[in-house]
Amino acid sequence: MKLYGAIEAGGTKFVCAVGNRDLEIIEQVSFQTRNPDETMEEVVRFFSRFTEELQSIGVGSFGPIDIQQDSENYGYITSTPKLSWQYFDFVGTLKKYFNLPIAWTTDVNAACYGEYVKGNGIGLSNVVYYTIGTGVGGAALQNGYFIEGFSHPEMGHMIVNKHPNDSFEGTCPFHKHCLEGMAAGPTIEKRYGRKGQELAEDDTFWEIEAYYIAQCVYNTTLLFSPDIIILGGGVISQQHILPKVHSAFVELMNGYVKTPDLVNYVVTPKLGSNAGTIGCLALAEKLTNQ
Ligand code: ADP
Ligand code: ZN
Repeated sequence: MKLYGAIEAGGTKFVCAVGNRDLEIIEQVSFQTRNPDETMEEVVRFFSRFTEELQSIGVGSFGPIDIQQDSENYGYITSTPKLSWQYFDFVGTLKKYFNLPIAWTTDVNAACYGEYVKGNGIGLSNVVYYTIGTGVGGAALQNGYFIEGFSHPEMGHMIVNKHPNDSFEGTCPFHKHCLEGMAAGPTIEKRYGRKGQELAEDDTFWEIEAYYIAQCVYNTTLLFSPDIIILGGGVISQQHILPKVHSAFVELMNGYVKTPDLVNYVVTPKLGSNAGTIGCLALAEKLTNQ
């Protein structure tokens, strides 16, 4: 049977999987992200079991990454704050062990693609995906192609207005109050000394969080007029947050643009935490059919 490989390379954990032509996951493992040597050893160990059947591998990596085919650093993770991974030749290292076509994109692009081929984005022409977890990343697909230019988008660092009741300075070392710096999971722990999953549902903080995410939805709506905005990542697993985002968004938009019905427009991923893996499988499969 022909198999396709997926590597979801996250800053906290790696997920490796193989799947079939129908993008069904056949086997999947997950392990902690350590230094590149140790981590890639585990990656190679997993895929070595499937060398006979493996056709190609799709990688969705934490970033920033170099995606310019003609760049000498193509396939590298570039200026990440994770020091041991800075300028790590990810694709080159994989190629040393597996002589296969390798699709290379960001983790959030992969998740967006997964939702496009098998989730809430099926059949839609413009699909936007954000992950709000350890960091905030964004991806936009237009008719199946990632929107990108000199590099991949960095939508997670859009500037947001501070909520009047939020005195927090932000965690991003580059920007005082960008979305990631104000709304990613670790900002909650910095504010309160407790993780987001430990805050009560009725904590007033969630209005603040929703206000930041609503600004992201507002900006995205004005930029792309997408068919759908999919919000994933650990912080969004707070189920009560989506309705709060919807109402804060309505207030911000103030009637200017008439969007699709919000319950179908700003949604969570249908594939849940498998969106990235399925996206990587799909990108791998697509490479072999070009
Ligand atoms: P990653 O970003 O590594 O892919 P996640 O998307 O799970 O992983 O994001 C992890 C972040 O999300 C952490 O900061 C964590 O505290 C936060 N988080 C995870 N689950 C929840 C939850 N149920 N409510 C609020 N925050 C959460
Ligand atoms: Zn920033």
